[in-house]
Amino acid sequence: MKICHFLYNKKSYWGAFRNNLVFPFPDSGLEKENLNDLNLTHNVEARLVKFLLPVSPSKIVCVGRNYAEHAAELGNEIPKIPLLFLKAPSALITEGETIVIPKQSNQIEHEGELGIVISKECRNLTETDNPFDFVLGYTCLNDVTARDLQKLDVQFTRAKSFDTFCPVGAFIETEVDVSDLQIRTRVNGIIKQDGRTSQMVFPVEYLIRYISNQMTLFPGDLIATGTPPGVSKLNVGDLCEVEIEGIGCLKNPISN
Ligand code: MG
Repeated sequence: MKICHFLYNKKSYWGAFRNNLVFPFPDSGLEKENLNDLNLTHNVEARLVKFLLPVSPSKIVCVGRNYAEHAAELGNEIPKIPLLFLKAPSALITEGETIVIPKQSNQIEHEGELGIVISKECRNLTETDNPFDFVLGYTCLNDVTARDLQKLDVQFTRAKSFDTFCPVGAFIETEVDVSDLQIRTRVNGIIKQDGRTSQMVFPVEYLIRYISNQMTLFPGDLIATGTPPGVSKLNVGDLCEVEIEGIGCLKNPISN
């Protein structure tokens, strides 16, 4: 199922997305007669439905250098333990919204990543706990980075947290096996990053368990699992797409 959050007739609802239609959840508050209207006639392409952010995380936990070839392309060693940093939730945007280049940077880059959405409070998981029991689903995520400022500051906070620097897909996919999915980033239709989630240094289940032992994860929290090689500069007028097999495609234009 693809969970979505959408605006219809000036009110927001949660539902499922299928065949280009939204299906409000029974407890979403939408009247039954309106619900039928929405299913049958209010096609997404008719723009009567606007997608809203499907997550409201207390934090976005990111993993750096989690694909060996990406670590190498930036001249870094593969970490021996997951390299964690935080991205500000105020950086979130969703499908179709614009990534804005801040005046402070001359080098912003895309990092297409698999995003994990946490379903329930998660703390100090052990080897006997199943990390997937704490996952609501997965989404496409772009860990947009001001590369020049990342190098200048050493700390990642500013380079990763400008407003609009965390696009996530409009849907949370709840039924996909993420152990070996193709993940691609295109800029203006040209493939820049092309990897597989099986190439992660630390896989999804390892990351959830590890992070839960550093900080409590709450429902809706996001984990950005690192990016394959091929990061490149984004310029005004570009269209950046992050596509993950079985999950979807996240498209965002670039502006200043
Ligand atoms: Mg990243």
